[in-house]
Amino acid sequence: MSSIILEARDIRYRYPRGMEAICGISFHIRKKEKIALVGPNGAGKSTLLTMFNGMIRPDSGILLFDNEPIRYDTPSLRVLRKRVGFVLQNPDRQIIAPTVYQDVAFGPTNLGFGPTEVKETVTRALRHVGLEGFERRPPHQLSGGEKKRVAIAGVLAMDPDVLVFDEPTSGLDPSGSEDIMELLDELNHEGKTIIISTHDVELAYPWADRAILMTGGTILHEDIPEVAFGNLNSVRTAHLSLPTLLELYMELKKRGFLLPGKKPRTVLDMMHCIETLFEKSRIQNRHGTITVCNVDLDNRESLSEWIAMHEGICTGAMGTRAKMCAENSRIHLDFTYSVIDKCILKALLGEDSLILTTESMVKRVYLRVNAYGVESGVQIPVHQFGTAQPEANGKNGSEP
Ligand code: ADP
Repeated sequence: MSSIILEARDIRYRYPRGMEAICGISFHIRKKEKIALVGPNGAGKSTLLTMFNGMIRPDSGILLFDNEPIRYDTPSLRVLRKRVGFVLQNPDRQIIAPTVYQDVAFGPTNLGFGPTEVKETVTRALRHVGLEGFERRPPHQLSGGEKKRVAIAGVLAMDPDVLVFDEPTSGLDPSGSEDIMELLDELNHEGKTIIISTHDVELAYPWADRAILMTGGTILHEDIPEVAFGNLNSVRTAHLSLPTLLELYMELKKRGFLLPGKKPRTVLDMMHCIETLFEKSRIQNRHGTITVCNVDLDNRESLSEWIAMHEGICTGAMGTRAKMCAENSRIHLDFTYSVIDKCILKALLGEDSLILTTESMVKRVYLRVNAYGVESGVQIPVHQFGTAQPEANGKNGSEP
């Protein structure tokens, strides 16, 4: 179990001339966790988030970062704000410079980096969020999703350990929201602790490692999402709704269907529940193969040739760099979100698929497919692009 990075002990806060916004809250967040603070408007989510990098100081109680009480003198706050990056709900309030480059360069310049180091840092941060080539663009001419990415790049340029996002998908269309949630996953996979606030249960339920349900400045429930959202009293008190998959599972259970004990968080989990019910009548097809291509390594020409040879193969891309590679190589993408689960679903239908991704995410494909195999007893063959095809009998390719 990872160590604790943030801890609150009975913290309270009242806005000047306002009502008490945080009414005695205690919790802890572990390193590399994905945490969703979920609650209705006015629950106190944003107020709590702004305490994590010292923007607001609790009136009472203690807030600890990396096991040390947060200190509020200027030098301590500078260090804290380098380690805890904050992405505001509205990027227009975060982006201050006339060009994308200048905006992202603001943090590293303030940290005292030299010009070469600033340039390298900005280039790396923009590459990370898929905005290479946007350096000279004025931020006000960008789309909502692009502005959000500029704001994220500005925070990434400081290389924080913890990233805090207030309503990360607000104002974005469904595809923009999916891209941002995927970027959050990618950052988490690279070792960052990610904390988001949201009132969108469908967003938080499949994404979070733990959900903290809040209302009226208090925590109602804090647990893995299946348990936190499975508590109907908490969900009702917080004026939230049940995630659709969980509601469906509960309704089926009420009707006496013998479902597995593990509640579904994704469509893939739900399919596993349903297939368990119909196990005996199901025709066992050959399972499709998932091919994983590391776009950092593999030759783009041979990739295009391979796709042409496998006409109609479903293709997904995980991570911004992989998506950009697909765009540059004019590769049509069928999946850009929940890519691994969607490819497993295809494999269960006997169809092959291709996942484009980057070095750091390849292992995640193997881990997810193997975890699904352990849970369901169904082994989906995974194959690395450029190596020999495994036999199509359910044997997994070996992990890289
Ligand atoms: P949420 O992010 O869950 O919507 P907030 O943290 O923004 O909730 O607000 C919590 C409570 O604090 C609300 O009652 C809100 O009206 C109040 N509040 C928020 N900001 C201020 C402020 N600047 N001054 C006074 N009250 C505020």
